[in-house]
Amino acid sequence: MRSPGLTRREAVAALAAGAYAANGIAQTPTGPRRLDVHHHMFSREAVNTFRANFDKGNPGPLRLDWTPARSLEAMDQAGVRTAMLSCNIPFGDNPVAARDNVLRVTREMNDYGARLTSDHRGRFGLLAALPLPDVDSSLREIAYALDTLKADGVGLLTSYGGRWLGDAVFQPVFDELNRRRAVVYAHPITAPCCHDLLPGTGSQVLEWNTDTSRAIWSMIDDGELAPPRVSTATRCPKVTFIWSHAGGTLLGLIQRFLGADSSAEGLARVPKPNSRLYHLRRFYYDTAVSANPIQMTALKSLVGASQIVFGSDFPFASPLDTIQRLQGSQLNADELRGVLGGNALRIFPRWK
Ligand SMILES: [Zn+2]
Repeated sequence: MRSPGLTRREAVAALAAGAYAANGIAQTPTGPRRLDVHHHMFSREAVNTFRANFDKGNPGPLRLDWTPARSLEAMDQAGVRTAMLSCNIPFGDNPVAARDNVLRVTREMNDYGARLTSDHRGRFGLLAALPLPDVDSSLREIAYALDTLKADGVGLLTSYGGRWLGDAVFQPVFDELNRRRAVVYAHPITAPCCHDLLPGTGSQVLEWNTDTSRAIWSMIDDGELAPPRVSTATRCPKVTFIWSHAGGTLLGLIQRFLGADSSAEGLARVPKPNSRLYHLRRFYYDTAVSANPIQMTALKSLVGASQIVFGSDFPFASPLDTIQRLQGSQLNADELRGVLGGNALRIFPRWK
């Protein structure tokens, strides 16, 4: 029997996993390791916060009826062994004013995520949220999340109250993450500047991918229009960055971002250490809502297939549909295997 998009072996593994799930047993599928790095969870407090702060002008579907069982079912259908859970919710345009709520809800989300990783061992990892832009509290949450909860990394938003991740204000946080060789996964939101700019158009259509590019630029900006500066990416070589949605609008901005390095000759050269191209090629990018031949071939030619990792955006998109799309995205068998699991296992070796 052959399920669409799966090899026979994978289909058997997926069926077996589904049977285990039906029995309520937290059993992992066998077969190739597939990791989903872009997979949302919603704690009770996160749902309340999401409802209060989500874009008013966004007509997009809100899938807040999420449960761990729905995640496991979707993962089993697609033969995904492990999903890295993140809860990237907005706290409104003025997170400084909402500080107490941010601290309380962030801790609740992280504790909830950690509970899921132990209740469903092997099936869920955790990318913990930080209460940014509060730097001191974030430093405490890093210690709690990584030391006590044993989180796999941190899941950040691309911006907090109109400051993007490479902002100097956040440097103590990135210095600490660098010291810990941490994984930083970044997920977009709508910055205060940019709500409802085109009425009737959801933020996910334009704004989120744009905010991702702003965050990437802020990370690699070494003084394009100002005096030269050491970019956060250069300052933090031990941080492993994963950007959502194939880097957002990065691919359309590549000549703006790289200048001479975006020519055929520039791209063919080994990039100068700590150049913008150097950093773009050490970052990772997920496939969420980007699993199509246009973005995948462009991303592959820019950074190489080794830097692309599977992300589904569940519950907003389906892991199985994303995999089927990737199978039609001009990745060869080795590249596809790497994208679906091998590349992410380099980032998260404990899931091997
Ligand atoms: Zn998402």
